[in-house]
Amino acid sequence: MQPKARITHLPVYQPGKPVDEVKRELGLTKVTKLASNENPFGCSPKAKEAIVAIAEQANIYPDGASVLLKDAVAALYGVDPEQIVFGAGSDEVILMIARAFLSPGDETIMADRTFPQYRHNAEVEGATVVEVPLKDGTHDLEAMLAAVTDRTKIVWVCNPNNPTSTIVTADEVESFLERIPSSVMVVLDEAYVEYVVDPRFPNALELIKRYPNVVTLRTFSKAYGLAGLRIGYGIGRAELIRSINQVREPFNTTSFAQAAALAAVQDQAFIASCREANAAGIVYLREQFDRLGLKSFPAHGNFVLVDCARDAKTVYEELLKKGVIVRGGHTASIGFPTAIRVTVGSAEQNKEFVEALEAVLQETAVAAE
Ligand code: PMP
Repeated sequence: MQPKARITHLPVYQPGKPVDEVKRELGLTKVTKLASNENPFGCSPKAKEAIVAIAEQANIYPDGASVLLKDAVAALYGVDPEQIVFGAGSDEVILMIARAFLSPGDETIMADRTFPQYRHNAEVEGATVVEVPLKDGTHDLEAMLAAVTDRTKIVWVCNPNNPTSTIVTADEVESFLERIPSSVMVVLDEAYVEYVVDPRFPNALELIKRYPNVVTLRTFSKAYGLAGLRIGYGIGRAELIRSINQVREPFNTTSFAQAAALAAVQDQAFIASCREANAAGIVYLREQFDRLGLKSFPAHGNFVLVDCARDAKTVYEELLKKGVIVRGGHTASIGFPTAIRVTVGSAEQNKEFVEALEAVLQETAVAAE
């Protein structure tokens, strides 16, 4: 049996290595995972209570339209409920956008390097991917604009960008939106928006009011700490969201995810405390990288890409032996051969990581002599 020709070259997604697997393989008892940009502080206790309470209804299908959650998110952001679509993670929203809007022969523009699922889903739909290199680790919006043709359907802007953690500013995005044809959809993937403290960061919700072609993607997987439940969403003009809903599976988000997300939205104090701890973690890591003579891009998400100036695979493997899982830049999904991407953990985890990294740098320096 032959699959579709256009999917045969696609890589199977490689997630961060699970803690239990590392413990088993390396015979370690303590392992710190800073590989998947998960929330080191878990989720709101209110979300946990909601998960337990909804267990009673495990035999009932979820609300396919996610009405209660949609209303809560709409109220949080001051948008109309019709402007929101939920997915099993924002991963699924990316899939649905590609499914609804991309056909063979269409072009879609994204940065090189950025989150790999834009490319992946565009290729599944047979669209032509146009990659525009990052400039100093940041989206080059001018070059992306210059790449627009009359075949361009979607431009993906990952802000903060995974894996570099850099941002494009409100001024840059606005100037870009002023000049891009309104027939081209601009997806602002803001998976890490809750972590951003830089006042130059754009307000996507204001942009949606002014530009009919903008969609923003957000998720409960990062600051909300609900990655295991798989729920994320897109916000845009109602007509656009309706098209996405037309390709959505009937019960694509679970009742557990909806209930937990609803409770989590109502605990903004938890989000604020995570944002604060993350910002302090970034400052600490930056200081430590300076001390170790390592360069990193200015980080705005809950992760940092740091150049270790040596083979990333070696650094990744040696860190693993010391019980710290990061994401190596040698992998296709990251694509920075001498860098590693590390999630900002708790203060204790950050310290453990820095100690392990310092030891690895010393060992690999000796080996190089
Ligand atoms: N967008 C970006 C930029 C991401 O980093 C991630 C998570 N790796 C996602 C989307 C998808 O997250 P989720 O499907 O868990 O919402």
